[in-house]
Amino acid sequence: MKKTALVTGGAGFIGSHICDYLLEKQYRVICMDNLITGSLENIEHIRTGDFIYLNHDITEYIDLKDDICSIFHFASPASPIDYLQLPIQTLKVGSLGTHNILGLAKVKRAKMVLASTSEVYGDPKIHPQAEEYWGNVNCVGPRGVYDEAKRFAEALTMAYHRQQGLDTYIVRIFNTYGPRMRKDDGRAVPTFISQCLENRDITVFGKGSQTRSFCYISDMVEGIYSLINSNYHLPLNIGNPEEMTILQLAQNIKDISKSKSNIVFQELPADDPLVRKPDIKRARKLLGWEPNISFKDGVEKTISYFRGKITS
Ligand code: UDP
Repeated sequence: MKKTALVTGGAGFIGSHICDYLLEKQYRVICMDNLITGSLENIEHIRTGDFIYLNHDITEYIDLKDDICSIFHFASPASPIDYLQLPIQTLKVGSLGTHNILGLAKVKRAKMVLASTSEVYGDPKIHPQAEEYWGNVNCVGPRGVYDEAKRFAEALTMAYHRQQGLDTYIVRIFNTYGPRMRKDDGRAVPTFISQCLENRDITVFGKGSQTRSFCYISDMVEGIYSLINSNYHLPLNIGNPEEMTILQLAQNIKDISKSKSNIVFQELPADDPLVRKPDIKRARKLLGWEPNISFKDGVEKTISYFRGKITS
C-alpha cells in the first residue's frame, strides 16, 4: 500500500512541483486547490493513477475519507499583486484554512508542513534574516494581509504542536522561481523573463537597489521534503543566500536571455522590503541541505519554460 500525501495549493507553482516530487517518491497524492491562483495546466501531466485532484476551498470544512500520512499546506495567494487583489481570501486561507488543515492533520494523525514565508520578517532591520528575528511588519499595509496571515498560521501551527502534540513543521520560504510561475503573477523573475522574451521594457521598481535572493524550485522542494522528514518543529528558513539588487536581476536576465529590452524605472510599491537574504545556517546544520542550482542554470531552465509559453 502506498502512503498518501495531501498537497493544498497543489495546482500552484510550488505545490505542483511538490506533487511531482511525491509521485516520484512513490506516494499517492491528493491535490486540493480551488484554482483562484493555481491552474490545472500545472498538473495536467500527472492526472492519472496515483494522483487525485479535488477542487475545494480549504477555508470550508474538509471531508476526506482517505488515510493520509503527510500534509503539505501550500494553499495561498503568494505574489504581491495576487494578495493585493485577494486580501480577504489571503487572510482566510492563512487563518481558517490553516485551522481546518490542522484539524484534519489531527484526526488523520498526519504530519503537516506549513508553507510560511520570508514576509514574516517584513521590511527587515536585521540582515541577513535568521529564524530568531521577529520581523518588522506593517500589519495594516498592503502586504499585511499576507504577512499577518502567515504569522497567524505559524502561531496556530505551534499551538497545535505544543498543546495537542501534532507533528508539525514550518518552512519560511524565501523568493523562489522556476517553471510554472504565472507570466502575469507580477513577481520580478517571471515579469522580467517575459519582458525580455517579448522585447518589452523591463520594469524595475524604485531605483532597483532593493535586494532579493532567489532559490530555484528543485532546491526548494528538496529542502521542504527534508524538513518534514526531520524532527525540527520550529520555523526554518529555506532559500538561496545569493543576494542581488533588483537592477542586477534585471541586467542578469537580460544578459542570459540575450534580450534587446531596455530597463525602465517605475514607482516602488508601498512597504517593498529594502533587503532580503536568508540565513540558512540552521537548515545546513539540521538537514544537511543547501541549494545547488546556480542562478544562471535556474534562469536558463525558467527561460526555456517561458519560451514555450510565449510562442505557443
Ligand atoms: N519588482 C520590480 N519590477 C517588477 C516586479 C517586481 O522591480 O516588475 C521588484 C519588487 O519591487 C521587489 C522585487 O522586485 O523589490 C521582488 O518582487 P517580487 O514581487 O518578485 O517578490 P517580493 O520579494 O517583493 O515578494
